[in-house]
This record gives sequence, C-alpha cells and structure tokens, in this order.
Amino acid sequence: MSYDYVLIVQCDLVQRRCSGFACTNSFYQKADFFKEYDENTKYIAIGCGGCCGKGLSAKLEHFNNKLLKKTDIKRENVAVHLSSCMVTDNYHSDRCPHVDYIKDIIRKRGFTKVVDGTYISQNAAKKRALGNYKKY
Ligand code: SF4
Repeated sequence: MSYDYVLIVQCDLVQRRCSGFACTNSFYQKADFFKEYDENTKYIAIGCGGCCGKGLSAKLEHFNNKLLKKTDIKRENVAVHLSSCMVTDNYHSDRCPHVDYIKDIIRKRGFTKVVDGTYISQNAAKKRALGNYKKY
C-alpha cells in the first residue's frame, strides 16, 4: 500500500507553545516515523480540536470532503500520524488520556492507517531510557 497524503494530528494544548517545527521538519527530511514516504507525498497538520478530541471528527469530515472534491486521492491512501506529543510522555506533557478515543474517531472516518508518532526527540528518548519519562 502506498500513501499519497500524510495527515498529522497535533495536540491542541501543545500547539499553544509548539510551532510543530520538529514534526514538520521530520516529514520533509523523511526521518523518524516518515521514512516510508517519498518526495511526492503531501502533508497537512491539524489540531485535535481540544479535549476530549471529539472535535476532530468534524475536521476529518471536512478534510475528506476537500480530498474528494479537489484531488484524486482516496482516504485509504492517507496515513494519519498522531504527533509524538500525543502518544508519548515527553517535554510538553504526558501522553494524551484520550488517545484511544481519538483513534476510534479516525478509523470511524475511514482512515485505516494510524501511526503512533512523528518526530523522535533524542533527548526524550534518553529520558525515557533513564526512567524519567514513562514508556507506553
Ligand atoms: S484530547 Fe489529547 S491531544 Fe487533544 S488537546 Fe486534549 S490532551 Fe491534547
């Protein structure tokens, strides 16, 4: 299966202090969790809509509609990545407590490829290994 579009879901709370640069940079470098994509893969990042993530459903519906009207890409060819700030204990905060609920929303909207992670922070990985951050 090839993926033509990568959609990153970011934590709305983290977005208040994070530009998303590291995740975006990893995507363009095809590094960390983006190694399988090629130069033609498109990219978009959206916020989760705030706790508890329920608002993501409408955003995904909007994305689906635009995808259908403006591209020939099918939703089966979209890979959804949950940002590392959502799925790990990290510099910003601990893992999102609603992550399983959010994954259910994404799958219900027809996206079958859901990946836990975007950018890999070497510093956070070190702190995880030392036990300063939790592992999931
Ligand atoms: S639902 Fe999770 S990802 Fe979204 S704002 Fe709340 S903690 Fe962040």
